[in-house]
Amino acid sequence: MNNQSTSSYIADILTPVALDTAYSYAVPEGMALAVGDVVHVPFGPRETTGVVWDIREATSGGPSNLKSIKAKADAPPVPEPLRHFIDWVARYTLAPRGSVVRMALRGPEIDRPERVQIGVRLLGPPPKRLTPGRARVMAAAEGGLLYSKRALSDLAGVGVSVIDSLIDEGTLVPEAMLPGSITEAPDPNFAANRFSPGQQTAVDALIETVKQRAFSVTLLEGVTGSGKTEVYFEAVGEALRQGKQALILMPEIALTGQFLDRFEKRFGTRPAEWHSGVTGRKRERTFTALASGEAKVIAGARSALFLPYADLGLIIVDEEHETAYKQEDGVHYHARDMAVVRGRMEAAPVVLASATPSIESRVNAAKGRYRHLRLPERHGGRPMPEIATIDMKADAPARGKFLAPRLLREMADTIERGEQVLLYLNRRGYAPLTLCRTCGHRFQCPNCTSWLVEHRFRRALMCHHCGHVERRPDSCPACEAVDSLTACGPGVERLNEEVAEAFPDARILVLSSDMPGGTERLRREIEAVASGEFQIIIGTQLVAKGHHFPYLSLVGVVDADLGLTSGDPRAAERTFQMLQQVTGRAGRGETKGRALLQTYDPTHPVIRALVSGDSERFYTEETTQREMAVLPPFGRLAALIVSADDRNPAENHARMLARMAEPPLGVHVLGPAEAPLAVIRGRHRFRLLVKTPRDFDMQTYIRHWMARAPKITGNIKVSIDIDPQSFF
Ligand code: ADP
Ligand code: ZN
Repeated sequence: MNNQSTSSYIADILTPVALDTAYSYAVPEGMALAVGDVVHVPFGPRETTGVVWDIREATSGGPSNLKSIKAKADAPPVPEPLRHFIDWVARYTLAPRGSVVRMALRGPEIDRPERVQIGVRLLGPPPKRLTPGRARVMAAAEGGLLYSKRALSDLAGVGVSVIDSLIDEGTLVPEAMLPGSITEAPDPNFAANRFSPGQQTAVDALIETVKQRAFSVTLLEGVTGSGKTEVYFEAVGEALRQGKQALILMPEIALTGQFLDRFEKRFGTRPAEWHSGVTGRKRERTFTALASGEAKVIAGARSALFLPYADLGLIIVDEEHETAYKQEDGVHYHARDMAVVRGRMEAAPVVLASATPSIESRVNAAKGRYRHLRLPERHGGRPMPEIATIDMKADAPARGKFLAPRLLREMADTIERGEQVLLYLNRRGYAPLTLCRTCGHRFQCPNCTSWLVEHRFRRALMCHHCGHVERRPDSCPACEAVDSLTACGPGVERLNEEVAEAFPDARILVLSSDMPGGTERLRREIEAVASGEFQIIIGTQLVAKGHHFPYLSLVGVVDADLGLTSGDPRAAERTFQMLQQVTGRAGRGETKGRALLQTYDPTHPVIRALVSGDSERFYTEETTQREMAVLPPFGRLAALIVSADDRNPAENHARMLARMAEPPLGVHVLGPAEAPLAVIRGRHRFRLLVKTPRDFDMQTYIRHWMARAPKITGNIKVSIDIDPQSFF
């Protein structure tokens, strides 16, 4: 806009704090400002960055006491579709708009001057002395492209000092690297795949969808190993051909080394990445390159939904059923659902991929709201794993042990054949409970309603909810009995002990997110497993997520019943999905896969569905039950969690809210009930559940209800979770 000297302007600025209002500021004379610009404004005693949400002309005699915008920030503006998206997410989740805009500003540390990076190019004469290392550098730099020193040293497998010495010799010539060039552009024609007829049908449909450059949602459902990734890569390729950007959302992005390699094989280079592990300058450059449109494909965690894409042409949500897509603190949003919203705002197609789709997406497909593409067979004619149960009542493990004799025998046979075994147990640590044999004392977290989990590896008792750690004492703190503490139940560390005893010569690996070494180590370990190292892998849920382990032929589920007994309305669905995924790791290579489920309840519908392989029937039954109970997606849920430092104020406030609810016909406000996890981090918690028909405007109802309620006092907090996924 043009600022004429005769009129003055007012801008409404949304600041990244937990407030819903955009505050008005005066636009200084001569400042050219547009909606979406990022600016510095005074905010209380401090200064903050904010986004221009609106600009209007000041009426004459209007308020002159407005503070002025300080300056424009050196950051890419927030484009219009992203502004609409932010408004939409805030309205839907009932989060203050400021909290949502904050997620969109979490890119670079704004206004930190960009350091210029120096790159090198092969331009000068060869060096006088040609060592093997130097020769590799020259081979790698051939073609005269500009490389960062680090990239070139990685490529050639030499230290940076070799690069430096070649600069000294004049062989490599230093040059400033333009900021923003984070990767080479992926090439849609770099490699071609040969598809089976079934895959080809899905590929053609996806390419056609991307060509339409319009919003649509496709559910790509294919059994584990059917080639979903290869198929949706073709959609990415088409977006690239159209000159558009593509976003691939992944639930566990930090662990997807294999995925990045496959992407590189198909497109000649890796995609840009966006997750909490991308920091500093890399984060900054990725952010700007996306805003300028230079970066074309990004593989990201749910936070990548809030980036300022220049021209988004495709969103893929991989493993769309994953619970990791739901953010449970701050703004409670479900990234799969919000991806669909963002796609609509960008007029871009959305593809949801999974072997075990959520009931929600299946119903949307059945009702024709989503298009449904299926890959019913594994690639290359590989059979699906054969799944059987071990009835733990009939085939009980030895005393104090957790593996049934039959599972141990099958493990021995598998290793004998040179194949790998995966034991799945979703319990970190050594034992979920420690108690005193003399007096019965149980170790509980001082801050939470939960038992402390023994981590023998770290020599500590830990709370998995608040992180509380204490040393495991030698005597009981209650009765002082010595050597009387005993571990109850298995965790992966304890299973490791049992397996090592049974298979003393086997190479065993525990894969769990809390082992030391962090993400880097996990990435390496996953690669090692994929290349056939280790004979027995013991893992928590992260082993189930999309990995391709070609030597793995037997999966043993140590406790298939775990998770079926929780009060979560999605318990059956979740367990089915998780076990289907984990058993789906077996037999992806040359040998046929088998899975054994240890259970005390072999006739449970979830277990029966897994064994029969009849997932259609499971989906049908589960969907019918949801429909009858008017649960999502046939009805809607919202949870209100009232918490306080003391129990009474939390309970009283929750009761008062329930009394004021005034639910209209068909709407139910259930509770308050003490939360299953009654205390977390010292906060006492009560839950209310709002249940409504599907077409009910839940947000408006809750907003009015909260407006009627008296102001919250003291340390009481009410947090609202629309479409809750967790019921603790
Ligand atoms: P999903 O994601 O459905 O579990 P993937 O895409 O991981 O399946 O495919 C499983 C394996 O089969 C991978 O190693 C993949 O490279 C391979 N694959 C799938 N389709 C093809 C194809 N058309 N050509 C070659 N390899 C394929
Ligand atoms: Zn705790």
